[in-house]
Amino acid sequence: MTTEDPRRRIPRTDRVLADPAVHAAGAGLSDATVRGVVGAAQQRARAGEIAPEAVVDAVVAELAGRGASSLTPVLNATGVVVHTNLGRAPLSDAARQALRDASGYVDVELDLATGQRSKRGVAAREALLEACPAAEDALVVNNGAGALVLATTALAAGREVVISRGQFVEIGAGFRLSDLMESTGARLREVGTTNRTHLADYRDAIGPDTGCLLAVHPSNFRVAGFTSSVPLGELRSLADEHRIPLVVDVGSGLLTPDPVLPDEPSLSEALEAGADAVIASGDKLFGGPQAGLLLGRAEIIERLATFPLARAVRADKLTLAALEATLRGGPSPVARALHTDPEKLRERAEALAAAVGADVVPHDGRVGGGGAPGVPLPGWAVRLPEATARALRLGSPAVLPRVHDGACLVDLRCVPQSQDDVLLDAVRRALEGTR
Ligand SMILES: *Cc1c(COP(=O)(O)O)cnc(C)c1O
Repeated sequence: MTTEDPRRRIPRTDRVLADPAVHAAGAGLSDATVRGVVGAAQQRARAGEIAPEAVVDAVVAELAGRGASSLTPVLNATGVVVHTNLGRAPLSDAARQALRDASGYVDVELDLATGQRSKRGVAAREALLEACPAAEDALVVNNGAGALVLATTALAAGREVVISRGQFVEIGAGFRLSDLMESTGARLREVGTTNRTHLADYRDAIGPDTGCLLAVHPSNFRVAGFTSSVPLGELRSLADEHRIPLVVDVGSGLLTPDPVLPDEPSLSEALEAGADAVIASGDKLFGGPQAGLLLGRAEIIERLATFPLARAVRADKLTLAALEATLRGGPSPVARALHTDPEKLRERAEALAAAVGADVVPHDGRVGGGGAPGVPLPGWAVRLPEATARALRLGSPAVLPRVHDGACLVDLRCVPQSQDDVLLDAVRRALEGTR
């Protein structure tokens, strides 16, 4: 007598889909997603990992744990404020609310009073100009790199962008700003050396083919020692002599100088020093959504806004909404984390440490996101056994600590204080799980 092949008992897709429990667990998910989960469970049954009779339960369990998006919220316990791997700047409450409000139909290009079409993004533009009075006009695009490409293409396609060799920045993941600019047809005219560039170097390079002068803040590295660069004011005079625009990429996007970060340039300072257009990211120190900010002289911004490429790097309604709310709402989480009182951090760290029987150690936070390299943000961390780190990352909520020197360090700088209890629970569970 032959025994029946158990694989014959694996329920067919139609039957699994018709099961009321599967139907309920899959509500709110696409048909393709649910079918994918069913297929995976059937495959596990075929491979003998689960019994054929367990397929429905496996599908229900998998669907129950799944949202339509698999991005997992993380408590950032690294002390790194603008953490690239965690999506850079977390949004303020006002910006989060604005995102929800703008996610349906919204008057992004409509004047409700007249019923006529209006200019896109007027409110975000106004908020930027109020926050940065040195600018005559502003344009928001998709991201900082997009802003740079738009500016150099509109002002110098088929011509030359004069830039110092000391400002050739690779922004991460292998992307170099120089490659980016050349990809749309501007030629880079490199001047000076890695450590020193003089006004005469710029002057010698300017000719009939010059499209613009470009100064880039070397945001993620520092050249120390025998160095010199040309102040923006001097570049401004040179640009005036030759009637060419001066573009400045400040990178991180501080609106105004911040005493915590004395070497970090701001949009306002660059404009006051004479930049025709300044460029910054929206989701670094600015503390908002991913965006590229272009502020400057009306005539130049208008040229960029009407250049065809502008349409390809256009900001969406969600970005515009969150950006405006970042400016008009309360302090951004980035600003809070930068200006947290170290004593307050110490108290919170000590409370957490006491509750789990751990030590508090001095720990410097960082700006991160390629900003203010090497600048410490003095604070404190709770030191836990290294093995706790993995348990914390895989916990619910997920917590990302810093692993350093054989220890798991939990820095509260970027954890909202309202989450301290949630963090404590997460640490307790992680410690139990690794004991
Ligand atoms: C981060 C950065 C960019 C790129 O900005 P994204 O918003 O990431 O596209 C460009 N230039 C500088 C100097 C930067 O620091």
